[in-house]
Amino acid sequence: MKVLVAVKRVIDYNVKIRVKSDQSDVETSNVKMSMNPFDEIAIEEGVRLLEAGTAKQLIAVSVGPQPCQETLRTALAMGADRGIHVKCDTTVEPLAVAKILKAIVAREKPDLVILGKQAIDDDSNQTGQMLAALLDWPQGTFASKLALGDGHAVVIREVDGGLETVKLTLPCVVTTDLRLNTPRYASLPNIMKAKKKPIDALSPADLGVDITPRLTTLKVVEPAKRQAGIKVDSVATLVAKLRTEAKVI
Ligand code: AMP
Repeated sequence: MKVLVAVKRVIDYNVKIRVKSDQSDVETSNVKMSMNPFDEIAIEEGVRLLEAGTAKQLIAVSVGPQPCQETLRTALAMGADRGIHVKCDTTVEPLAVAKILKAIVAREKPDLVILGKQAIDDDSNQTGQMLAALLDWPQGTFASKLALGDGHAVVIREVDGGLETVKLTLPCVVTTDLRLNTPRYASLPNIMKAKKKPIDALSPADLGVDITPRLTTLKVVEPAKRQAGIKVDSVATLVAKLRTEAKVI
């Protein structure tokens, strides 16, 4: 079985996001970037399938500027066999990423594609679903457990109020939720080994995909600052304030 995992390079989840002064976007220059956390979970799941002997090959794909190769090296150090970098320097919207992944699926013919449930920069939660629709493949989104059987995958999904179990025919698309696994840290020997693993470089044009954005960002602003709280001296004052000022009762 061949597994393809999509990994996005995003602002590190520990960084305090700053908005550019012209409100066009968030600041990314001189900011620590890392692999999207849900994609680390996707790679970890792929590596576990390799270790279990269920998967024979694990390929990591990243779409974006040159430094995406660092993200791919991280995936290779965690255990992926090879990388594919689709280089583009402009914003790539989820639909364009899904079209690029579809073209790579046509070349690589994987049995399973694993993506994160969402990228923590755009919070779109769209790419996996769009890819499944474009391929006309079954999808198991928000997976908290994945088990592969003969020609099928069983995915336990985290839904409101409980867990849903779905059985999908392979090939299929799975997107990861937080509780699927805990990603490993790459060991130093594996980081060294990853330097020798191959990364193919492609462009969207090589894959016949037009990545022209379809959406226009009007402006990006910081969230409103939280107001300081106050102490009230009695329950009666609290109730009065909730009624007349907060207007919540
Ligand atoms: P999104 O739909 O943008 O929230 O992203 C969902 C998932 O799609 C991510 O967790 C990645 O697995 C994948 N993805 C999105 N954008 C990219 C990208 N530029 N390169 C590789 N994978 C991506």
